[in-house]
Amino acid sequence: MSKLESTLASEEQNLLACIHCGLCLEACPTYTITGDENDGPRGRLYLMRAVGEGRLASTSEAFSQHIDRCLGCRACEQVCPAGVEYGQLLEASRAELREVESTRGFTNRVLQLVLTRVWLHPARLRLAFLSARIFRDSGLGHLLLTSRLARLVSARFELALALLQSSSPIELGEHQGAETSKNCDAARVSGRADVLLFTGCVTEGLFARVNRATTRVLEANSFAVHAPPHQVCCGALHAHAGDLEGARILARKNIEAFKDNSECPVITNAGGCGAMLATYGHLLAKDEFIADEARQFSARIRDVSQQLATVEMQTGAGISAGIVTYDASCRSDCNDQSGDFDYRQSGLPDANWRGREPGWYAFKSLSSGRAIG
Ligand code: SF4
Ligand code: SF4
Repeated sequence: MSKLESTLASEEQNLLACIHCGLCLEACPTYTITGDENDGPRGRLYLMRAVGEGRLASTSEAFSQHIDRCLGCRACEQVCPAGVEYGQLLEASRAELREVESTRGFTNRVLQLVLTRVWLHPARLRLAFLSARIFRDSGLGHLLLTSRLARLVSARFELALALLQSSSPIELGEHQGAETSKNCDAARVSGRADVLLFTGCVTEGLFARVNRATTRVLEANSFAVHAPPHQVCCGALHAHAGDLEGARILARKNIEAFKDNSECPVITNAGGCGAMLATYGHLLAKDEFIADEARQFSARIRDVSQQLATVEMQTGAGISAGIVTYDASCRSDCNDQSGDFDYRQSGLPDANWRGREPGWYAFKSLSSGRAIG
C-alpha cells in the first residue's frame, strides 16, 4: 500500500463526508476557468478516493495533472455544508505526488532543491533574500524586464523578476510618517497588551516595510509588539509542494520560538502564513511529543485585522491618495482570519480570486497562474 493509499484510508471519513452537492464548484477558481469537473473539489475528491481504493494509480497522468492544478486556496472548505476537510486530503495527495515528481522536469528539481537546501536553513535564506534585494535595487532586474530580455530567457524567469520588482520599497510622504509616529508616541504612554508578531520569510526578506507598518499600527492601537528572533518560514511552501516533512521541521522550530509568552496571541499579516500556522495542530497531530503544544500554538494565531477588531481602532496616518484599496487575502477570508474589520474594497476586477495563487503554483502552472493571478 502506497503512502497516499494509507493516508487516504485513514482519512476515509473525511472523503466519505462529501455528499456530492456541488456547492463548492462555484467557489473554485480552477473549476471556473477550465469548466472541467476534475479541476473542481468534487472531482478531485473522486480522484483521491479512486487512488485510495486502488482503482486509479497515484502515478497516473489524470491524478497528477488535476491535483497539481489545485491552488490549495481552500475556498471550497468554506462553502462545504458537509465539512469536508479538503486541505488535509490535498496535502496527503501532494506528498505522494512529490515522490514521483521530484525526479520529473528541470523546474521541479530546482524548486525542490531550493525548498530543501535553502528554505530549511534560516541563514542561507537570509543570504538569498539579501542577494535578491541587492539585485532588485541595482536596477538590473528592471532593465531586463523593460528591455524584454527576461522574456527571451523564459516566461518563468520573467515572472520571477516581475515578482521581485513588485517588492521594491515605497517612499512614504513626510506628512504620513510624522502622523504615524505621533500615534505611536501616544500609545506608548498608555498600558499595552503584549502580542507576538510572526514576520514571515518572504515578508521580512522582501517586504519588511509591511512588518514595520503592522508594528506601528498595532502600537498605535495599544499593543506592545514583540517579534521572537528564532522564528522561521511557516512551511506553507513545503506543504503545498507536498514536502510535509519539511513543513513539520519548520513548524517545530516556530512552536519553540514562540514558546515564551505562551499566553500571547501570534499575529500574522499574510493570509497564507496564517492559514499554515493554524494547521500546525493537524500537521503534528501524530507526534506525541509536541501534538498538544502544536494545537495550543494554532489556537493563538490571529490575523492582524482580527486583533485590531478587539479594540476601538485609532485612526492612523493621513493618506493623501483618494481611494485606498484593501484586497483581503483569500487565505484570510478562507480561514476566517479577517475579523470584523470595516474596509472598502474597490478597483480590482475579480478581486475575490486575486492572491489565491500561491508562489509555488505561479512557477509550476504558469498559464493557470496568470489566468487567476
Ligand atoms: S483548494 Fe481552491 S483550487 Fe483547490 S479545489 Fe478547493 S477551491 Fe478549488
Ligand atoms: S461542497 Fe462539500 S459535500 Fe458538496 S460536493 Fe463539495 S466537497 Fe462535496
